[in-house]
Amino acid sequence: MADKVTKTLLHSIELQQYILDTSAYPREHQFLKELKEATMEKYGRLRELNVPSDEGLFLSMLLKLTGAKRTLEIGVFTGYSLLTTALAIPPDGQIIAIDTDKEAYEVGLPVIKKAGVEHKIKFVHSDAIPVLDNLVAEKENEQGEGFDFVFVDADKTAYASYHERMMDLLKVGGLVVYDNTLWYSTVRMEEDEAREYMRSNEMMGDDLDGFIAGRASIVGFNKLLASDPRVEISQVSIADGVTLCRRVL
Ligand code: SAH
Ligand code: CA
Repeated sequence: MADKVTKTLLHSIELQQYILDTSAYPREHQFLKELKEATMEKYGRLRELNVPSDEGLFLSMLLKLTGAKRTLEIGVFTGYSLLTTALAIPPDGQIIAIDTDKEAYEVGLPVIKKAGVEHKIKFVHSDAIPVLDNLVAEKENEQGEGFDFVFVDADKTAYASYHERMMDLLKVGGLVVYDNTLWYSTVRMEEDEAREYMRSNEMMGDDLDGFIAGRASIVGFNKLLASDPRVEISQVSIADGVTLCRRVL
């Protein structure tokens, strides 16, 4: 029997469920559970865009291990990864969070306030590229410090453009984390196969072309990162694939 399409690389839903039930959900912060519930109430199963809990714990671990203070998030939705970041960084840590969808951000905002971490967040309601360009200009003018940590999870067709800006905005030694770099495991397939795979599983029915465009971009992006001497990389097989890039030049 074919597995249902799952965003996880482990093509066993049971094994993924084991990880979530055994080690992720018991450690998931109460406020993150609440934020997920608020998201589900508003959007139902139609827009399951938040990172899964095991990935949330992984991001939290990275933030703490690197001691990140100045952070950036591109693609917020209702704020699961954002709240994860806000809870993981120190009290004087900061997050610039960019999204074109303010309504979604407002779904999670009451929980973020309740968690007492809203003061760390500056939400920017905009397409990401112009905001990144402004940040690059500001940094050059004021010779600012650069970011310690960036989580990229917005428009997949723009990942290469985001990456160019990251090479200006990150501190040398800073970390940028790209989400969904395995794109429902379709990165290894030919386009026709990927299309059929998604169609037969009744996923992305309304935006199959968008999905396929995202896939092509991610495939190209993975190759680009592999040959970029400015970063050290590690593609991690968690969730839908997460690529860590440490700026070295
Ligand atoms: N990181 C979030 C999920 C983000 S979902 C979490 O794990 O909880 C992707 C988000 O990217 C959506 O909310 C969408 O509005 C946003 N997005 C898509 N294209 C964008 C763009 N060009 N600029 C800024 N945000 C964008
Ligand atoms: Ca994502």
